[in-house]
Amino acid sequence: MKNWVDLAGEVLQGHELTDDEALEILVCPDEELLSLLQGAYKIRNHYYGNKVKLNMIINTKSGLCPENCGYCSQSSVSNAPIEKYRMIDKVSIIKGASQAHELNVGTYCIVASGRGPSNKEIDEVVSAVKEIKAQYQMKVCACLGLLKPEQAAKLKEAGVDRYNHNINTSANHHENITTSHTYQDRVNTLELIKHAGISPCSGVIIGMKETKDDVIAMARSLKVLDADSIPVNFLHAIDGTPLEGTNELNPRYCLKVLCLMRFINPTKEIRISGGREVNLRSLQPLGLYPANSIFVGDYLTTAGQEETADHQMLTDLGFEIDYCPA
Ligand code: SF4
Repeated sequence: MKNWVDLAGEVLQGHELTDDEALEILVCPDEELLSLLQGAYKIRNHYYGNKVKLNMIINTKSGLCPENCGYCSQSSVSNAPIEKYRMIDKVSIIKGASQAHELNVGTYCIVASGRGPSNKEIDEVVSAVKEIKAQYQMKVCACLGLLKPEQAAKLKEAGVDRYNHNINTSANHHENITTSHTYQDRVNTLELIKHAGISPCSGVIIGMKETKDDVIAMARSLKVLDADSIPVNFLHAIDGTPLEGTNELNPRYCLKVLCLMRFINPTKEIRISGGREVNLRSLQPLGLYPANSIFVGDYLTTAGQEETADHQMLTDLGFEIDYCPA
């Protein structure tokens, strides 16, 4: 049996996983899962103790997207019966921040569907963010799609701390998921926001028919991109999307993926994101041994579990909410 705790110790000394070691994590026998989690927890605990960061999303614009991302219910190729609306007003965005504040959320994520924001939408977000930052001690993350440099500069000036733009999958698998923009387009936006001085958040969606080598490539790409925050989504295939009916995951494999992300990106915020409830199911609490962050509330077009259940889970684990927005 592999000694995962020793390997974690090596990672803490600066060891970078070989491809063989990375693959061993993903194919780790279930009998070794607790030992693997213990190794991942050793790393997580070293950098984050028992603290858990909370994020909350507001979907400020839903559906109506011309892109063709295969997993997304908001795309032009989806028939999913979701609510569709144009960007909500500033007052509603600020109201969402107030709810997030009441739930001790450290990062409020302002999300909008679409290939990228119009200048008018940027101005709406900028205006809301300025007020939120004046009123609340919380980090603000924007997720608005592909950006132009001048748009990134405006967001930075307004006080946006972080920008989310997921790589979603590996460079090799990308065109099986979407053809309306390239993997490089996504990388370019991440580079642009780093250049603007905004902290990069970028993550993945697991369970989209990728190989294990793709999963390892994703973890390594996020390391190269130096993403400060890594949301790990597990596909919750929505009827009416091209990936409808895809159901490749089991909770133990999801935990192994989270461990891989921790071993390859030891110092980073790793967040269990969309699909947590449906894919990890009763094993959700174990995900917080490798990961140190979760979303509370609903996702973009699917419901999450009640916030009270999330807070109860943290209490039961003996973990604490990381209120610090830094
Ligand atoms: S993921 Fe974003 S860009 Fe892709 S279809 Fe959905 S809303 Fe559009």
